Amino acid sequence: MQDLVIRGVRPWGGESADIAVRDGRIAAIGADLPALPGEEIIDGRGCLVIPGLVDAHAHIDKTLWGTPWHPHQAGPSLMDKITNERQVLAGLGLSPEVQSARLLRRLIACGTTHVRTHVDVGPDVGLKHLHGVQAMRERYRDWMDIDMVAFPQTGVMIRPGTLDLLEQAVRDGAEVIGGLDPVGVDRDPKGQLDGIFAIAGRHGCEVDIHLHDRGDLGAVTMEMIAERTRSLGLAGKVAISHAFCLGGVEPARLESLIALLLENDIAIMTHAPSGTTPFPPIRLLHERGVRLFSGSDGIRDTWSPLNNGDMLERAFMLAYRSGFRDDAGIEIALRMATYGGAQVMGAQHYGLSVGSNADLVLVAAETAAEAVAYHPPRRLVLKRGRVVARDGQALLPANA
Ligand SMILES: [Zn+2]
Repeated sequence: MQDLVIRGVRPWGGESADIAVRDGRIAAIGADLPALPGEEIIDGRGCLVIPGLVDAHAHIDKTLWGTPWHPHQAGPSLMDKITNERQVLAGLGLSPEVQSARLLRRLIACGTTHVRTHVDVGPDVGLKHLHGVQAMRERYRDWMDIDMVAFPQTGVMIRPGTLDLLEQAVRDGAEVIGGLDPVGVDRDPKGQLDGIFAIAGRHGCEVDIHLHDRGDLGAVTMEMIAERTRSLGLAGKVAISHAFCLGGVEPARLESLIALLLENDIAIMTHAPSGTTPFPPIRLLHERGVRLFSGSDGIRDTWSPLNNGDMLERAFMLAYRSGFRDDAGIEIALRMATYGGAQVMGAQHYGLSVGSNADLVLVAAETAAEAVAYHPPRRLVLKRGRVVARDGQALLPANA
């Protein structure tokens, strides 16, 4: 591996420093670091440097990236979108392995170094999305760290056989078991949550549940998730994605939900949904100490053509929808797209300290807040000390 010294960068917008990278790790940070014989010297040109971006909630198995433009045609409800997706994907006959590899190039170009992707599991697709993305992951293991969530996109209790498939997915290597609106989709919250948590308890895996249900429905579901987290001793291993209800319940109810999240160390994912959809109050949750993270959700797929996989832009959206203008608020959003996701994924040696993996992103920006505000193309991206993207282009071979 080529060791290197990056001259003149500013970690998280701080003082200018050099960063020495040896054996894929940050070996030293300081002024005027000596380069050892044979080491490459990279001019950092005064860029901001942040740790690799973390897309900790994506669906890379069913992106339409790299295919002809697909005008959005799904109806307004969640079930409309699920049904539409099944019809479109079956018609297109796309391969999860090929599609996720196409998207990988884009994610690398954007400076993403870690992805937690949900992969569809259900009676219609079986485990082929899981196995397809696993094959892609194996091919590109030096380019991206990828974890997988076995995700019951078409429901659990309304699709007999799904629980068995989810458990088989965990046996086959899915790091996390997912769920989906135990009330809104299944109308059987006890059945879905008991089934999912039983699998998590048997296998010791993590849990990440999509919860779009709003208001009291979502709040009661959250309480049921917290009960099961406590009774199975899964504190610190459970996340709730979207959690729209946190943005739409009365203040007293919100306080009791925050207390439950803290007691059971449950993390919250939001990607700042579009339109007027309620979403979690990020600054309040951050100040109370709730673990927060973010992700792209679907990237150019049948759910929406707008998401493009850029996690700096995602941080912008988190800040924009939250009404943040101050640097402190904008930096909360960037932390969700970096450290927050890395923590939830259990990424080892992540960060900007000596000894951290050299997963680094150089951005032409004065401060972390400016990087979020303008999210310019990434100057340079390193994955474990190797340059993987430059000036907004991934360096994956064309035929990779
Ligand atoms: Zn999702």
